[in-house]
Amino acid sequence: SQRLAGKVAVITGAASGIGKATAEEFIRNGAKVIIADVQDELGHAVATELGPDASYMRCDVADEAQVAAAVDLAVERHGHLDILFSNAGIEGVEPQDDMVTLDLENFDRLMAVNARAALAGIKHAARVMAPRRRGSIICTSSVAGVLPFPAFAMYSISKATSIAIVRATAEPLARDGLRVNAISPGSIMTPLLLRCLGQLSETSSGLSEEIKQMVMEPVEIARAALFLASDEAMYVTGHNLVVDGGYSVH
Ligand code: NAD
Repeated sequence: SQRLAGKVAVITGAASGIGKATAEEFIRNGAKVIIADVQDELGHAVATELGPDASYMRCDVADEAQVAAAVDLAVERHGHLDILFSNAGIEGVEPQDDMVTLDLENFDRLMAVNARAALAGIKHAARVMAPRRRGSIICTSSVAGVLPFPAFAMYSISKATSIAIVRATAEPLARDGLRVNAISPGSIMTPLLLRCLGQLSETSSGLSEEIKQMVMEPVEIARAALFLASDEAMYVTGHNLVVDGGYSVH
């Protein structure tokens, strides 16, 4: 069944991993998707692979003007925007667990891509969605935003901030008839996770083994995003949907 028939979506970070799987799921359900990423070659290849309902646009989410341009392209090309999935993210470089040597420029970069970009997305999606009084905005946070990973302290802070952004903007957006939610994935098999595991294997913490035991495929997150994007989630807003196989429960 086509749960997103006639809808238009922008997905950031969709050249890879969770974003790519979600683009696939959205298109299968009848949506037109703009794949926004900074990996041009990969992004074009993914758009070709997903067919005529997908197109690629270069968009560095750390730059507000480029986020605005991605939203505007959706309206220009398809007439309206129904869904923004702010999913692009970075893990940041190590070390993040030694407070004495923290590199705050690394922190600024993490906050720009993982948190500030979510707010920029909300701002510009709301600009085009509010006049129609409909739209669903989804931000990819992380289970690390709920239960900090000490080995990735600054990443955890940036992801907790993205959850705070969703909670703080839900009520103002609701006045315009718009919804905003976060998804907090556990460990998903993507290039980002593999890079994190590579960093962790150099430390003696048991975290790398712990993570490997609970790893899931990107489609598990795509299904959660599909629900939040669809009209089935009409009354769901300001929520953080944790999809981690129960990892953060205990
Ligand atoms: P990924 O590396 O496969 O995909 C991330 C994509 O974001 C890449 O294509 C990358 O080019 C893009 N990107 C990075 N910086 C960007 C920028 N400034 N502008 C535009 N695009 C940019 O990783 P993934 O695991 O699919 O990550 C997607 C999201 O999920 C991220 O926000 C990540 O933090 C989050 N997440 C991942 C996991 C996991 O275990 N993989 C767990 C929790 C949360």
